[in-house]
Amino acid sequence: MKKYNFYAGPSILSQYTIKSTAEAILDFAGTGLSLMEVSHRSKEFVAVCDEARNLVKELLDVPATHDVIFLGGGASLQFCMVPYNLLKKKASYLDTGTWASKAIKEAKLFGEVEVVASSKEKNYNFIPKDYTVSDDSDYFHITTNNTIYGTQIHRIPQVNVPLVADMSSDIFSRPTDVSKYDAIYAGAQKNLAPSGVTIIIVRKDALNRMDRPIPTMLNYMTHVEKESMFNTPPVVPLYAAMQTLKWYKEQGGIPAIQKKNEEKAAVLYDEIDRNKLFKGTAEKEDRSLMNVCFVMNDEYKDLESEFASFAAAAGMTGIKGHRSVGGFRASIYNAMPIESVKALIQTMHEFEKQH
Ligand SMILES: *Cc1c(COP(=O)(O)O)cnc(C)c1O
Repeated sequence: MKKYNFYAGPSILSQYTIKSTAEAILDFAGTGLSLMEVSHRSKEFVAVCDEARNLVKELLDVPATHDVIFLGGGASLQFCMVPYNLLKKKASYLDTGTWASKAIKEAKLFGEVEVVASSKEKNYNFIPKDYTVSDDSDYFHITTNNTIYGTQIHRIPQVNVPLVADMSSDIFSRPTDVSKYDAIYAGAQKNLAPSGVTIIIVRKDALNRMDRPIPTMLNYMTHVEKESMFNTPPVVPLYAAMQTLKWYKEQGGIPAIQKKNEEKAAVLYDEIDRNKLFKGTAEKEDRSLMNVCFVMNDEYKDLESEFASFAAAAGMTGIKGHRSVGGFRASIYNAMPIESVKALIQTMHEFEKQH
């Protein structure tokens, strides 16, 4: 039976990425060696790293003021690396979910943190829009897509300080004006590659301004200067990331991907709104194009586990909602074709007919 992968992360990758990485694991770039056993300093692998960096720059129109680095440690390590490198006195944060609040907790270790707004009291089902960011903040941190709650910032806030963004679950899903950001970071396992590599885009002249000493490995400048080769980068995930980036380019680049994402999300939300059994959990205007969260309508609450089994029998994998929201979550990242979204819709439709 065909399996449809709706996992939130690690999550669906393009067949192109999976196949080309599998081939390289057997024979990497004609070296006769596996990708898993070659030196990261071999000319073949340095070429992979260079190409990945160049593709990120090309796909996101990264200006010359910024550089792209690849590190281990996940997006969670960036929760402390960002303030370590960029927070001198004070930073502002928008609290839109679990990941945002984890970033806030770490920032407090480094200075004053102004939480400008929070949607916590409504279980993070919307994006706060009414707030002011102090002009004397070193940066304003946002989480552009809230993977757990299915909300997304659709209009990037206009503020007088540089932005910093956790884009783990929506990077490459839409065009981004990188010039507005001092840092953008994303763990690879939602929209790019297997887990293990994190992509970071930093504004070079925002670095090296700190009075505090920064441990070498946690200093962005180390990795900018050494072109992500200060120590051993996550070789296999980085190779896979490069393949996905190539695939994005072949698909027509980010605008083409954005168009497909809009189509996928529109048909799925339409079904959730139409189907009498289900309702969405996020405020409509803040609905995520990546993570679609829905629950049973109140009158049909007891059908939840029945739908879970029904969907599983139809090949739908990974649609169980996060425990803090409940119900269901269909993650429909860049690599998911619209046909798979339509298969889920068909399943929801058939289940409705039975009730
Ligand atoms: C998954 C996720 C994280 C955590 O990523 P790790 O790589 O596991 O540290 C952080 N932020 C967002 C928005 C995420 O979706």
